[in-house]
Amino acid sequence: MHEGVLVRVDVMERLPDGGWHVAEVKSSTAPKDYHVGDLATQVWVLQGCGIDVRSAAIRHVDNRFILQVPGELDGLLHDADMLGKLDGIIAGRDEVVRSVRPVLNGEEPQTAPGDHCSSPHDCEFAAHCRRGEPLPPEWPVTVLPRGAGAAWRVRGYDDLLDVPPDRLSGVNAIVHVATVSGTPFHDRGGAAAEMMQ
Ligand code: SF4
Repeated sequence: MHEGVLVRVDVMERLPDGGWHVAEVKSSTAPKDYHVGDLATQVWVLQGCGIDVRSAAIRHVDNRFILQVPGELDGLLHDADMLGKLDGIIAGRDEVVRSVRPVLNGEEPQTAPGDHCSSPHDCEFAAHCRRGEPLPPEWPVTVLPRGAGAAWRVRGYDDLLDVPPDRLSGVNAIVHVATVSGTPFHDRGGAAAEMMQ
């Protein structure tokens, strides 16, 4: 923890010549911009605590990896070294922390929940901010595949169980029937045909 900012570093490895290698592990196949910001904050905290960070990486899945021997996973993860790209972000972290402190110490902002609560990430305060709202449906229309749920929301439907079944077709009708009945749909013929290819 540094300046009141707590981080949980995924991996810290001692380097043979001294210092530390830091890795932030992600399930993606390439580093993303917000990964770099996360990593910069971690390095800022570590450096603030006097840790000698010599390299810092986003450790992501290497999609060129091919499993040759079961259980031998060397090469599945790749470290994309980022330390050189972090300097500018780290240099600004003091100011960022200074600027958010009054917000944290002030009154709760009166901002209604909306799309910003889940994009780009689910906000951890959602249960607090939505405490006065009715519970969401167990099966929202957004479970429909290929974006069909968004079209139903525009028409005023949130709960898949309220959607008139005779207005659904194809895979959406299958999803609806399986959801309402609770009986999973298994396309045995289709699966067999795919596996024969
Ligand atoms: S859930 Fe998070 S993003 Fe949404 S209004 Fe509350 S604090 Fe803001």
